[in-house]
Amino acid sequence: MSEDNMFRVSRERVIEMLEREGYLKSGIVKRALLSVPREMFVPENLRKYAYYDTPLPIGYGQTISAIHMVAIMTEALDPLPGMKVLEVGTGSGYQAAVLAEIVAKMDPSHRGHVYTVERVPELAEFAKRNLERAGYKDYVTVVVGDGSKGYPEGAPYDRIIVTAGAPSVPKPLIDQLDVHGKLVIPVGDRFIQRLLIVEKKASGELSMKWGIDCVFVPLIGEYGWREE
Ligand code: SAM
Repeated sequence: MSEDNMFRVSRERVIEMLEREGYLKSGIVKRALLSVPREMFVPENLRKYAYYDTPLPIGYGQTISAIHMVAIMTEALDPLPGMKVLEVGTGSGYQAAVLAEIVAKMDPSHRGHVYTVERVPELAEFAKRNLERAGYKDYVTVVVGDGSKGYPEGAPYDRIIVTAGAPSVPKPLIDQLDVHGKLVIPVGDRFIQRLLIVEKKASGELSMKWGIDCVFVPLIGEYGWREE
């Protein structure tokens, strides 16, 4: 079997498992996870572990999230074709590719876009290379900066996802969320957080719903944690 086929079979197996365990609920998220080659978003020496459902190191003390966590967060975010999405915490670019698959690639008549902000310039470069190789370059804009301040240039966003743990919801992200928009963010202390799903009603009022406990690297920035 070719290497590509081996990765495809492993991808299908892990996604079947996530579906059985109830992490994957919607067809659209399942299709996106089946389409994005996670092996192209992990460092070369870890490619054989690409379909282990665990976070993997990507350098600079950072990680690509476990596959079930990407499934849970994407399901909670509820992205749809044509939407404009902001991700804070690009890392490897994998989550951005999953989102781009849904909002921009899957349905050519609905061309949405993903903006993703990363504070470590070397990781932003790593993500750009990965996104280009995997065929997502035209659907994702990678920005280097402090994503706790959002990215006003692309606002307002239909969806905002933060893939680093924050002490509270950064106000700029609320301001940059469109009405009827959804924001998913891990909130807690530096070591353990709980997913928070925020929705902005037509009146501008916010509804908040807590999800599962999770463990993310800290969101470092003006509206996040201080660098230690
Ligand atoms: N979504 C990523 C992926 O698919 O590989 C995984 C994200 S990793 C768990 C968290 C990332 O958030 C790290 O790359 C870290 O450098 C980044 N980060 C932390 N604070 C940030 C900030 N204020 N702005 C932008 N990125 C930040």
